[in-house]
Amino acid sequence: MDLMYASTRDADVKATASQAILKGLSDDGGLFVPERIPALDVSLQDLAGMTYQETAYTVMKQFLTDFTEQELKDCIQAAYDSKFDTEEIAPLVRADGVYFLELFHGATIAFKDMALSILPHLMTVSAKKNHVTNEIVILTATSGDTGKAALAGFAGVEGTKIIVFYPKNGVSPIQEKQMVTQKGANTCVAGIHGNFDQAQTGVKQMFADKELARELAAHGYQFSSANSINIGRLVPQIVYYVYAYARLLAKGEIAQGEQINVTVPTGNFGNILAAYYAKHMGLPIGKLVCASNENKVLYDFFATGTYNKNREFMLTSSPSMDILISSNLERLIYHIAGNNAKENAAYMKKLAEDGTYSITAEMMAALDSFYGNYASEQETAQTIRDFYEKTGYVADTHTAVAAAVCRKYQAETKDDAKMVIASTASPFKFTRSVMDAVRPGNDAQSDFELADELSRLSGVPVPQAVEEIRTAPVLHREECEAGDMPLVVRRFLGIN
Ligand SMILES: *Cc1c(COP(=O)(O)O)cnc(C)c1O
Repeated sequence: MDLMYASTRDADVKATASQAILKGLSDDGGLFVPERIPALDVSLQDLAGMTYQETAYTVMKQFLTDFTEQELKDCIQAAYDSKFDTEEIAPLVRADGVYFLELFHGATIAFKDMALSILPHLMTVSAKKNHVTNEIVILTATSGDTGKAALAGFAGVEGTKIIVFYPKNGVSPIQEKQMVTQKGANTCVAGIHGNFDQAQTGVKQMFADKELARELAAHGYQFSSANSINIGRLVPQIVYYVYAYARLLAKGEIAQGEQINVTVPTGNFGNILAAYYAKHMGLPIGKLVCASNENKVLYDFFATGTYNKNREFMLTSSPSMDILISSNLERLIYHIAGNNAKENAAYMKKLAEDGTYSITAEMMAALDSFYGNYASEQETAQTIRDFYEKTGYVADTHTAVAAAVCRKYQAETKDDAKMVIASTASPFKFTRSVMDAVRPGNDAQSDFELADELSRLSGVPVPQAVEEIRTAPVLHREECEAGDMPLVVRRFLGIN
């Protein structure tokens, strides 16, 4: 019997894993969730002897039950290969008594590579499985990180095309350079004269545009999404928590069955939800520490049971966590309401209409494995400096938010279980903020000069992803008004 996926907003909507991956979002606006969370079917001791790829197969086969062994193994081999700069794929590095799970060794040096390097393969297999003969066109709006990770994942993947829109003047110079130098005839990148919200709105309108969908179909295309609400992004993220535990066990850092805690720097709530699923598969995880930056909507939620997005949006040095609507939290709400789509749909309706909702005391009680806190900008910079001065280890800004919150948790609770911190980006991706924290006064230097200095300070070579773009030719020069995004799509696909 296949594990089926249900919509978080309508109990009658059911899909297989491959159908859920193809669709991305349910038509009712809900997210696809597994009807039950499968248990790990091997011992922790066995896991301790596995490679990353073997662990990935062991975990993912439990969730993607309509994939054959060969299909899933092919996807895993195609994703977790020499695109990663370390054979371990996700190394665990100890510094000052905590373990950094480095998820930034892929093509774009941020953790989104962990899922976006496999999603294109899962999607093309899903298309075949469901007799979709159209080519899949991925449409993405990005504020910086997701765009490049999705481009790198889908570039050159047969049967797919990818189109990315970004705000022309709203991303960092390194982020823009990463995108406009992307190779691959199936890639298209365009800067819009507008902000991220306009790019996002434009993409959503195209997804909803029936006439455009008809034109696409006539030319053998259909849209899909690489957004983090796709279950095909969530499942691959469960793997590295299982892998981290197995590595700790293999290295003798923990005893078999010993509980560990994890801290996750959180924005859209995808990464920490994957840790929650890992725990519910039977992995011995005690606390799930949810770390926010000054956009602390989740901290307030865990403290009070009220989610309230009606507040000022803060721009911080950890921009990938600057979010007021954490999309994947909807999956947790559904689960703690007892897998109740009706109740969840009512909360989401309140969120859409009033920007706020409050959960019941019973649901609050079901959140007892979570701890939420946040780090200010000043605490984040201080944490980067402290770790560097004490251990020589340089963390990026997002990881530093997590490290700061981890320290708050440990000081408050005296819980001394081993702590794994999800390390979500290379410090070389946010070089300026990191260097300003370690050694202030860098205004005169370019981002590339600062990368060289950071390399000298940390003893870590400048990653290939940064080296590449220093001299790489610009391949995408397209710019457009926000209202003209469909024109860019039609032109790229040869539809007139
Ligand atoms: C996307 C991102 C996050 C947030 O992850 P979510 O799954 O959205 O909670 C944290 N750090 C970095 C570097 C990211 O790119």
